[in-house]
Amino acid sequence: MPRPQQKHLSKSSFLAGLDCPRKLWQLLWDRDSAAPYGGMSQLIMEMGTRFGVLAHQLYPGATLIDVDYRNLDQALRDTQAALESGAKTILEACFVYDHFRVMSDVVERQADGSWHLIEVKSSTRVKDEHIPDLAYQQWVMQQAGFPVSRCSVLHANRDGSWPDVASIFNLVDVTEQVKHWLPDVEPALEAMRPLLVQGSTAPEARPLFSRVCHDCPFKKTVCWHGIEGFTIYDVINARYLPALELEGILYIDDITAEQIENLNKKDRANVIRIQQRRIDINHQVITDRLAELVYPIYFLDFESIATPVPLFDRIAPWKQLAFQYSLHILHQDGRLEHREYLHREASDPSAAVAQRLCQDIGAVGSIVVYFANMERGVINSLINQFPDSAPALQSMTERMWDLHVIFEKYYRHWQFGSKSSIKVVLTTLIPGLSYKDLGIQEGGGASLGWLRMIESDDAALKESLARDLLAYCELDTLAMVELLKVLEEG
Ligand code: SF4
Repeated sequence: MPRPQQKHLSKSSFLAGLDCPRKLWQLLWDRDSAAPYGGMSQLIMEMGTRFGVLAHQLYPGATLIDVDYRNLDQALRDTQAALESGAKTILEACFVYDHFRVMSDVVERQADGSWHLIEVKSSTRVKDEHIPDLAYQQWVMQQAGFPVSRCSVLHANRDGSWPDVASIFNLVDVTEQVKHWLPDVEPALEAMRPLLVQGSTAPEARPLFSRVCHDCPFKKTVCWHGIEGFTIYDVINARYLPALELEGILYIDDITAEQIENLNKKDRANVIRIQQRRIDINHQVITDRLAELVYPIYFLDFESIATPVPLFDRIAPWKQLAFQYSLHILHQDGRLEHREYLHREASDPSAAVAQRLCQDIGAVGSIVVYFANMERGVINSLINQFPDSAPALQSMTERMWDLHVIFEKYYRHWQFGSKSSIKVVLTTLIPGLSYKDLGIQEGGGASLGWLRMIESDDAALKESLARDLLAYCELDTLAMVELLKVLEEG
């Protein structure tokens, strides 16, 4: 009888297995059930890859194992050849022990023959999850006969400036943290080992903490399929979840009065509102806030992008760059005007955005935004870069009026659950005005769309992406106009 197929465990699968055994099983044996990645996830993955490739420039003379990760045998052969030739630094080196494999971003041979293991991460700091990642790599390398004496994370440096490549990176020694995690590797692998075998039974799919399931690609398609309505994971603070789980509570409607008492004030209010299908409106505060508005009322929304590998000169990793805005202008006589700017060139959009903004927004009138931190951050950054425009831009930040605050605190519909994003609010209050037919439907998709647009040579594709971007951003500000009407109508 043929032996059942047994897969190798990669480092990303190892991390998935630490999160949730079912997630590991899905990745190994039913990957096609994964939901497609959204724009933001695609952007993060693509940027992570670019950041990793850029890091190679820090190691001139290193040997790159340039093999597709699915071609394990070739990667092993090339790594072996590099090791035998005495390579001091190897990029993407492949090591295997038993059914456990890793492709390490950077390994540097030390004077005593041991290795310095370096993991490249596009984050701006060392994160907790980087430690088990390195511990797994160290364990596999050591079992394969390559002792590791030092572990580091090479992450993005917010103070760096493009095109000084060295300044973009920051190397942090995490040898001690990894050493503490190392004893946990083997027990974790033994627990995962049975799942590597073809025909293994899928571990029970059950909702875990939302922290784990939140971004999981199998949430909607597998584990949470058929779960409708508000669950505790949609609404309740993570601190209170274990107690509710222990009592077998999944849906908000099933939480008892006694359990509600144990929640924090915000969760308590949301749970009661959902259970009673209530809409809570503080008319007095809303009326007072609306009275602050001064015509013409500008409704402003930016789209921006932040990348670990800066796109333009003198830009730091992860700096937010606004490349587009939509502006609806509501005049006192009821006229509604629309203006917009989309930077279509592959160049830093900041100067053009600042200039056009100062042309489009006059010296008088409120500026309605949804979640002011974002818009204020963009404008403050423009103030720092363009002192000549600073007075006009400064005046804009002073005239900002945040619509989000109203829907976060003073207009709470049970269908919002615990959320207050413009998309949730719009879907509930004005379902006819929806993002679902647009080519771009969320901010991450807009960032990715703009990147694709400026990097493409295909005129038709550029034009189609520009249209999608303009339509998406315009809907954001039109949504604010309509939501303000809802408030005015009480
Ligand atoms: S949705 Fe949750 S339970 Fe299901 S595989 Fe993902 S992390 Fe595991």
